[in-house]
Amino acid sequence: MFNAELIERVAKFRGVDEDPTRNLSACPALVLNADYTPLSYYPLSLWPWQTAIKAVFLDRVDIVASYDREVHSPSFDMKIPSVIALRQYVKHSEFPAFTRFNVFLRDRFQCQYCGSHDHLTFDHVTPRRLGGRTTWENIITACAPCNMKKGGRTPKQAAMPLYQAPIRPTSWQLQQAGKLFPPGYLHETWRDWLYWDVELEA
Ligand SMILES: [Zn+2]
Repeated sequence: MFNAELIERVAKFRGVDEDPTRNLSACPALVLNADYTPLSYYPLSLWPWQTAIKAVFLDRVDIVASYDREVHSPSFDMKIPSVIALRQYVKHSEFPAFTRFNVFLRDRFQCQYCGSHDHLTFDHVTPRRLGGRTTWENIITACAPCNMKKGGRTPKQAAMPLYQAPIRPTSWQLQQAGKLFPPGYLHETWRDWLYWDVELEA
């Protein structure tokens, strides 16, 4: 579930002194796919302003919103884009790559034995010495203490039940997980695009 409240809190946190847009080098553009959903939620798809402006001139993106800041050159003045949308739809592969980051994201950066967010590492659910493989279905996020405690045993042997059975997620499922992690900085023009598919409460 998308944590709208948390997003809101992060947005409010943005004080004038902390506003990165005062600093030209920190005016990233939120990149939307051609269907106006973020290309990626976590990490949030952001391009440096130079890349965004280059893409505008190459006709690869449309400008959706802009910062108040302008860049000047001998040939043009232009407001720095804050939200851009790709003209050509980028299709995500159905299944994401099996990487450390994606395993953490699938498990919401939480130990699957105790729920801790600290000292995270990986655990083979069925230990390697018992034939456990290094796959989506057998690798989970675990904190170091739980990893130590479990040792070379199965969850059953160790009496350490899993929060949820590990699955190979689809890209869509991983995107949903990514929405739970609002970025540390949020420009006001980004909000609509991170919010729009929030389910409305009755
Ligand atoms: Zn743990």
